[in-house]
Amino acid sequence: MDFRISEEQELMVEAIRDAMTRENLEPYFLECDRNHEFPQKWWDIISDLGLHSMFIPEEYGGDGEGAVSMFLAMEEMGRLGAPIYLFWEHVKVDDLQTDGTQEQIDKFMPLFLEGKSAFSQGYSEPSAGTDLSSNSIQTTYTLKEDGNYSINGHKHFISGATNSDYCMTLAKNSENPEELTLFFVPTKVEGARVEPMEKMGLNMEDVCDVWFDDVVVSEAAIFGGIGNGLTAASSALDYERLVDAFNAYGQALCAYEDACRYANQRLVQGRPITSRQLIRNHIMQMAMRIYTMRDLCLHFAWNKDQGILKREEASLAKQYCSEAANEVVDHAMQVLAGIGYCGSRVSRIYRDLRITRISGGTGEIQTLIATKQILRQYE
Ligand SMILES: Cc1cc2nc3c(=O)[nH]c(=O)nc-3n(C[C@H](O)[C@H](O)[C@H](O)COP(=O)(O)OP(=O)(O)OC[C@H]3O[C@@H](n4cnc5c(N)ncnc54)[C@H](O)[C@@H]3O)c2cc1C
Repeated sequence: MDFRISEEQELMVEAIRDAMTRENLEPYFLECDRNHEFPQKWWDIISDLGLHSMFIPEEYGGDGEGAVSMFLAMEEMGRLGAPIYLFWEHVKVDDLQTDGTQEQIDKFMPLFLEGKSAFSQGYSEPSAGTDLSSNSIQTTYTLKEDGNYSINGHKHFISGATNSDYCMTLAKNSENPEELTLFFVPTKVEGARVEPMEKMGLNMEDVCDVWFDDVVVSEAAIFGGIGNGLTAASSALDYERLVDAFNAYGQALCAYEDACRYANQRLVQGRPITSRQLIRNHIMQMAMRIYTMRDLCLHFAWNKDQGILKREEASLAKQYCSEAANEVVDHAMQVLAGIGYCGSRVSRIYRDLRITRISGGTGEIQTLIATKQILRQYE
């Protein structure tokens, strides 16, 4: 098995490293995190590097890169402390290509190409998170006499909703509640309201409540076909879960490397703390997880690029990496000790990583999804 990456991929990784190191972005990330601001400067830098277009299909002006390249890009940006949880548009592009109509692809792809967030993903509601069945979803669509649909309801925890003009909204038919459908619903029109929520971390991104009060959309807004809402949402979640794993790993890598560098130079009783076996154990616990996460992500990214990624693999990657990454950052914090807690980027990563065990489907649900598929093989 050949684990080497291509020359183009190596050049891309080098270009990311050079640009981000040259710009010395860490003080900027610190400021954005403190002020709860989107890191536009970083976004523009990676735009110049072509990272917003690399995953767009060639026929729409992009480079048509796959999951392995996306992993490598996220790994390098994560290593350098970037808020890679924002680097999510390739998940939406993947989704759009799978279930979007030609009209929707033509409308949204140019926005992605410019590095804009074309739409947010609106599945969750106050009454519906893990359970997205029609019993829990309260948002409705009603077919009007003129053939348009009226959308009413409240979406909850919607990432990036203030920066997008549309929310891909899961709703049920008010006349036939079993029928769930996804619609691209505009969020900057009369009847729509978006409000950011308080949260523990992810300060450079907004997570919002979104309300719709008789927002009217046409048939062209239907995504994935009428009544196919849950199927379309589930197929989108497979790649999203893999990217959740990339995200968790990339951030943990930064904490791990910071902890290793710090351990080498921090003196206690005149000697580096690496001379202590208990500190070595923290390094080992982190390294085992970092190496395993990397191999797992690369393997499943490769599967994705071959079109053979299985549902259980995506869930397994998300579950393992979200747990392992949180453990890594905890070990890193222990090595950095006081300075880790007060004034290092490891404290930011500590806050930002916790969500990886919750959003995109909780750890408990990844366990249920993966084990269902795994046990089936042994019936
Ligand atoms: C920062 C953030 C960003 C988010 N971004 C988005 C977004 O962009 N779009 C979007 O649609 N949603 C988003 N979400 C919502 C996220 O996907 C949900 O929070 C998640 O799916 C869990 O739903 P819940 O919070 O309602 O928990 P619940 O579903 O109420 O679960 C509560 C607990 O019960 C457990 N549980 C539930 N069902 C079972 C079961 N059958 N078996 C065992 N245990 C179970 C869960 O694992 C959890 O531990 C985001 C959430 C956060 C916090």
